[in-house]
Amino acid sequence: MFANSNILVINCGSSSLKFSLMDAITGETFADGIAERLMTADASIKINITDNHHQLSLNAPFDHKMAIEQLVHALTQANLIKQISAIGHRVVHGGEQYSQPILITDSIKQTITELSKLAPLHNPANLIGIEAAQLTFKQLPQVAIFDTAFHQTMPEKAYMYALPYELYQQHSVRKYGFHGTSHYFVSKQAAKQLNKPIEQCSFISAHLGNGCSVTAIKNGQSVDSSMGFTPLEGVMMGTRSGSIDPGIIFYLVDQLDYSLNEVNQLLNKKSGLLGLSTLSNDCRTLEQAATSANDKKSRLATLALTVFCYQIAKSIASFSASLTNLDGLIFTGGIGENSTFVREQVLTHLSLLNFHIDNSKNKIIRLGGSGNICQTNSRPCLVIPTNEEWVIAEQTYALLQKNIQG
Ligand code: ADP
Repeated sequence: MFANSNILVINCGSSSLKFSLMDAITGETFADGIAERLMTADASIKINITDNHHQLSLNAPFDHKMAIEQLVHALTQANLIKQISAIGHRVVHGGEQYSQPILITDSIKQTITELSKLAPLHNPANLIGIEAAQLTFKQLPQVAIFDTAFHQTMPEKAYMYALPYELYQQHSVRKYGFHGTSHYFVSKQAAKQLNKPIEQCSFISAHLGNGCSVTAIKNGQSVDSSMGFTPLEGVMMGTRSGSIDPGIIFYLVDQLDYSLNEVNQLLNKKSGLLGLSTLSNDCRTLEQAATSANDKKSRLATLALTVFCYQIAKSIASFSASLTNLDGLIFTGGIGENSTFVREQVLTHLSLLNFHIDNSKNKIIRLGGSGNICQTNSRPCLVIPTNEEWVIAEQTYALLQKNIQG
């Protein structure tokens, strides 16, 4: 059943660890799962073994290393452990140093540590996953795939902020862009659907999940993206504000006595869909509430969704400035793949760019479906389920092959 293209993909957060064991060539998944609330008394781990529908659920206090040990135990019992040829790690920030996947060595770990100053919440957590995996899978090559890498093709005019130049030169303050593996994956899939080489395709892709970003892709390469120095910039998200007037921060601090930490929490955790609706960061909950009989609940849920869709449409429209032609728009991420409402609202604002939705096509695409939701005389708008794990597996495998071939 197995060739040596089976890769274990690890996506490690500060309190969670997601994993998939998959064939890098076909994308077939043999096992996957998630450990959550790590290092608390409520830690839990779920492991699905695809073949025998085995599911392990465990609630006990444990950390990342113990989560990986549980995974090893489950994969050993399922006879899958010997089939793994390498481990691919999602690493959020590769700075300007990494535009390609890289084999992890001590000096690479050192650079990822240094880059933690740019991604203090993410890179240290990614390193915990790398070190836990290295302890357990001593013999296996480990590869880092960076979320920022795809955007390293952005031109200077797109990534520079109008701030004093030395902030860029001496402190790396510039736009990096995130969700790179997702934008890369869906643009490749879109090119396949349009039957055109990716090198000749230009798209605008909207990854709409809890985090949201829009990217302009020219001839298969990222040329601009809505997230910036951090994932806070751009369109509003589940709990992040997206771009706001920076003057609001001074107002909060100087006039309303917020501490910087409180501002940070406000903009990252209490804003976006949650902040505006006062109800939830979850798009499904808001879509339901928007039709509820409770006037205030319904009004604010509608407001949050309306602002959300308008901001996404404006971001998409703004990226037409980065392109010389446009083969289509792509929706992906939990909301982009499933919300017929959001897709319809966004496209309503984009008729000047010749996007005209076909409501019946839009309604049938959800739950893993894929296809064009626009009328035949319109520019295409493709819904494409993302698969970041597959990109990580594919790129890990490709790097190993390259190294073997010398
Ligand atoms: P993450 O960024 O954490 O990976 P996801 O890509 O899974 O998040 O997206 C989560 C978002 O997708 C949530 O806001 C959720 O409400 C939304 N979502 C999932 N299914 C649907 C649906 N059927 N209709 C509308 N929104 C949906």
